[in-house]
Amino acid sequence: MPETPHSPVYVIGGGPGGLAVAAALGERGIHAVVLEKSRAVAASWRGHYDRLVLHTTRRLSALPGHPIPRSFGRWLSRDDLVRYLEQYVEHHRLEIVTGVEVHRVDRTADGWLLRATGGRELAASAVVVATGYNHTPHVPDWPGLDTFSGEVLHAGEYRNAEPYRGRDVLVVGSGNTGADIAVDLAEHGAARVRLAVRTPPHIVRRSTAGWPAQWTGVLVRRLPRRLVDRAAARMARWSVPDLAPYGLPRPETGLYSRVLEGAIPVQDVGLVDAVRKRKVEPVPAPQAFKDDRVLLSDGSDVSPDTVIAATGYRRGLEGLVGHLDLLDGRGRPRHHGPRSAENAPGLYFTGYTNPISGMLRELALDARRIAKAVDLASR
Ligand SMILES: Cc1cc2nc3c(=O)[nH]c(=O)nc-3n(C[C@H](O)[C@H](O)[C@H](O)COP(=O)(O)OP(=O)(O)OC[C@H]3O[C@@H](n4cnc5c(N)ncnc54)[C@H](O)[C@@H]3O)c2cc1C
Repeated sequence: MPETPHSPVYVIGGGPGGLAVAAALGERGIHAVVLEKSRAVAASWRGHYDRLVLHTTRRLSALPGHPIPRSFGRWLSRDDLVRYLEQYVEHHRLEIVTGVEVHRVDRTADGWLLRATGGRELAASAVVVATGYNHTPHVPDWPGLDTFSGEVLHAGEYRNAEPYRGRDVLVVGSGNTGADIAVDLAEHGAARVRLAVRTPPHIVRRSTAGWPAQWTGVLVRRLPRRLVDRAAARMARWSVPDLAPYGLPRPETGLYSRVLEGAIPVQDVGLVDAVRKRKVEPVPAPQAFKDDRVLLSDGSDVSPDTVIAATGYRRGLEGLVGHLDLLDGRGRPRHHGPRSAENAPGLYFTGYTNPISGMLRELALDARRIAKAVDLASR
């Protein structure tokens, strides 16, 4: 299907990343259409757990061309972020088509062809893929999981602690989501909460004397890894108590080294206190399941009623663009932001890194860069 002068730029995904790019394109007078598979924009945020509060500040979480209202406070709740994103669509008069999932993107002689819900075939002058870093819930392939008599769910399905009152729960994974959920359960009536930890996380205070951890993340981003690792270790000894006596030792690998491997530090919004009060008990990572037992890596076992796997997500890009030879071994696009691959000019990706400086901030910066690249390429 040939590109016509009227072919819009299609943005796949109506999360913050896609909305930001559409707005930035609009600022340049470029016709952008957002295709969103759910019934409304901000679908992933609508599905997150009730307790969720942003770990990044209001100002550094805003998208291009429209600040987040001061009345939402410094640390936004999940619902306020959704409200902001709805306002954002209205403010920029973005063109959104909901209920349309794009299944495959193909190159044509002079543009791109999108195959989507209902047999739609859409011609695009350029395409921005913004389907989310946290696309497909991932649960490890633990041996014996199918024999486990307890309940197993992914953290993406967790809303609040209500269904787990009086229950024994094992949360697996000590990233921000696992830590948040474990504290939520402990504070709201679960009988026992264990947190399974494979690699001890770096724990940082959300802010110290009014200085948010995110600001440090922005400042140190371009500094040498070893320097940041050393400074962070010193800072941690000063600001976060030693939790080794409670089963959560300090990590052996430096903070920034872990970030470069993809592990963002845990912001303490209750975990330290809960561990010290033994309301959340760190335990080793699961290795296998057998009947009602979860076998842990130190040879011990536990028998929880429920296992909540806060074990991350996959990008899920294989079906969409896997045939175009653009993905690395971990399923992430090799080219990101304003850079298109040589064999895929006009195809852009946003939101597939997990930076220490905050993802929303990075999405906002990338949006304007991508819009500029699209603009330059169309001249
Ligand atoms: C629990 C949690 C807390 C977070 N907290 C913060 C924070 O405090 N600060 C911060 O900066 N970042 C945070 N992040 C990271 C990041 O900012 C968010 O994940 C953010 O939503 C990413 O935006 P996105 O637009 O890239 O992806 P998403 O918000 O996931 O949006 C992708 C959209 O694409 C749609 N979609 C997917 N596939 C298709 C398809 N094939 N066709 C059409 N539509 C499709 C989805 O329905 C969805 O609406 C957090 C992430 C999580 C999971």
